[in-house]
Amino acid sequence: MIRYSSNDMAKLGCNECDGCSACCRGMGQSILLDPYDIYRIQGATGLGFAQLMQKQAELHVEDGLILPSLKMQEDTDACGFLNQEGRCNIHAYRPGLCRLFPLGRQYEDNRLWYFLLEDACRVQNRTKVKIKKWLGVQPLADYERFLISWHDLRKSLQEQIAQRQSDSYAQEINVRMLRIFYQNPYDTMADFYEQFERRMAQMAR
Ligand code: SF4
Ligand code: SF4
Repeated sequence: MIRYSSNDMAKLGCNECDGCSACCRGMGQSILLDPYDIYRIQGATGLGFAQLMQKQAELHVEDGLILPSLKMQEDTDACGFLNQEGRCNIHAYRPGLCRLFPLGRQYEDNRLWYFLLEDACRVQNRTKVKIKKWLGVQPLADYERFLISWHDLRKSLQEQIAQRQSDSYAQEINVRMLRIFYQNPYDTMADFYEQFERRMAQMAR
């Protein structure tokens, strides 16, 4: 597997999906939403976490940790943000995992790497694009630092839940984490990363 940094080029260009919306359908609960996704969607649509949970999002359990994911709609098996023309209604503010596809992320020694998910995109002969440009998040260094912190926190909470083997402890952690990082609304006019750091400190108390 080839590992890329955000400054590398990879075969990603798919002519802006050109009428294809395969990645927005039938994805189950695989498109997890992180706090930055919630902040951006809230800023763009005004939908807070509780409102998102009414239609576009649902909760997913991964190694004991409860995290929100995009919800495939019952009637269409498509994302609730996909419109009738097969385009994303929140394209400019779409979640990080939607931006990433067909790349995956790998975390190692406090660094973030990217790799191509082979055969994930239906388009053959994709063009080379710089990963930084593909992701379209600025400043990327701050975003990557956030992703590493968030990944480490998730892993640490999952380890704590596994070690304790206690349903009430798992529930306590999940209720606290969801309240601190998801349910408490973000100030979308203020910097995200400062708010995230404050919430990390609150979680550690
Ligand atoms: S399969 Fe490729 S072209 Fe189709 S929606 Fe996904 S990324 Fe776009
Ligand atoms: S948020 Fe947009 S890009 Fe992501 S799955 Fe939904 S419709 Fe597709």
